[in-house]
Amino acid sequence: MTQRGLYDILDEDENLSEDIVDNRRGYMMKYDVIIIGAGPGGIYSAYELTQKKEDLKIAVFEAGHALEHRHCPIDGDKVKSCINCKSCSIMSGFGGAGAFSDGKYNITNDFGGTLHEYVGKKKAIELMQYVDEINMKYGGEGTKLYSTAGTQFKKLCLQNNLNLLDASVRHLGTDINYIVLENLYAALKDKVDFYFDTPIRTVKATDGGYRVVGEKESYDCDRCVISVGRSGSKWMEKVCEELSIHTKSNRVDIGVRVEIPAVIFSHLTDELYESKIVYRTEKFEDNVRTFCMNPYGIVVNENTNGIVTVNGHSYEGADKQTNNTNFALLVAKHFSEPFKDSNGYGESIARLSNMLGGGVIVQRFGDLVRGRRSNAKRIAEGLVEPTLAATPGDLSLVLPKRILDGIIEMIYALDKIAPGTANDDTLLYGVEVKFYNMEVEINEHLETKYKGLYIIGDGSGVTHSLSHASASGVYVARDIAAAMM
Ligand SMILES: Cc1cc2nc3c(=O)[nH]c(=O)nc-3n(C[C@H](O)[C@H](O)[C@H](O)COP(=O)(O)OP(=O)(O)OC[C@H]3O[C@@H](n4cnc5c(N)ncnc54)[C@H](O)[C@@H]3O)c2cc1C
Repeated sequence: MTQRGLYDILDEDENLSEDIVDNRRGYMMKYDVIIIGAGPGGIYSAYELTQKKEDLKIAVFEAGHALEHRHCPIDGDKVKSCINCKSCSIMSGFGGAGAFSDGKYNITNDFGGTLHEYVGKKKAIELMQYVDEINMKYGGEGTKLYSTAGTQFKKLCLQNNLNLLDASVRHLGTDINYIVLENLYAALKDKVDFYFDTPIRTVKATDGGYRVVGEKESYDCDRCVISVGRSGSKWMEKVCEELSIHTKSNRVDIGVRVEIPAVIFSHLTDELYESKIVYRTEKFEDNVRTFCMNPYGIVVNENTNGIVTVNGHSYEGADKQTNNTNFALLVAKHFSEPFKDSNGYGESIARLSNMLGGGVIVQRFGDLVRGRRSNAKRIAEGLVEPTLAATPGDLSLVLPKRILDGIIEMIYALDKIAPGTANDDTLLYGVEVKFYNMEVEINEHLETKYKGLYIIGDGSGVTHSLSHASASGVYVARDIAAAMM
């Protein structure tokens, strides 16, 4: 430990570890590797480092809470909507944005990120398979791995102008996903120093390493892995600016979440669980795609920086399953010149839906195509019982015509492979927006122009999924371990 004489801020009421007390007395804590963010990217990075080089001194700094303290206060009763907690328990904390997700680990290069462009296609798949092995070892054993290999639906889709993308998907389910995280934490906690509720303010390049500056303490390290995900996007932008790391704008995906009786899609979901299907619209030649399919699942609210959008979950345990299946239909938009802010565009559309509906809007497909607003009575009389309490309204007042036309076209196309999708009572919730971080300039080691400073996971703009983010963590850990041998 080296004395730097920077801090001397001890509060006797605080129950601090010896290391932190030392740090505040003026001893700078020094780690071999510091990881910022305990989402999948950070966790699998820490895991692999401990596997590859046991003697490394590793710390993980996480803005959110430890897993057991992550609780969203919205209970639908006393707290009905977001109260903007200092740290959002849905997006932040051990497990990151994926902690309460459906736990779908897609093993594919066709979607979920562009990791393969950096590490090669074969390597990317190997890494995702390795992550799957870890998940099986830590509680996921017995969960099902679905695959599109050899499926008859590929042909059926092509015959109807739809393209079924190739993938294997491990569905952990929200319940098992949580158990895997619990087990991983138990395995790591004695080998890695975890600092929860510790947002990092900035990262500075020092002589031969990095200084990670928190609200009260600073820590030095030889190598630093930044894995701050979607919730850390604004912070990531600031750090890149400070360190003059080049970034470029990414896309935004906008659309709706479709909810139908599960039986309508069961022939697909029973075999594939999640089918990623792309449709090229006739009118504008835009691509509309299915995203995040949740058989027998529920539709949920999602809060991104105070804007309420929609998402979906499903559980592995039969007792928590519903009679409905939900999935998103999304259209990608990418702005570059002169307007660059793709996320800002998505945010404005989501804000509009929040303004009209006070949150998420729900509309029957039949009402949408007839150009009328849905009301509570028509929804209550419909065949699909909504799993989310949303405001009946009119999505055509929110979504741009081009996007809405594409979604309607795709619903009719899906109706050909899953008759009933275009029923009047099919529910559409809006809006669903998938924000992407700006793409950070990194090399084939996922390393910035600074040696030993890595940016991985969704925060890099390179990955957008559990499997790709986790795989990027394993990849940099191996790179670091090899360099430190
Ligand atoms: C509701 C929901 C459901 C989803 N379902 C799926 C799914 O089924 N399958 C799938 O593939 N993907 C899913 N996703 C996406 C998936 O969760 C993300 O792609 C994945 O979590 C990205 O991992 P990450 O480690 O890059 O970032 P994150 O998981 O976002 O983790 C980043 C962590 O960094 C922390 N952090 C941010 N800034 C700082 C800072 N300054 N200092 C310290 N810590 C910081 C955050 O608190 C966060 O915990 C879902 C996302 C959501 C929100």
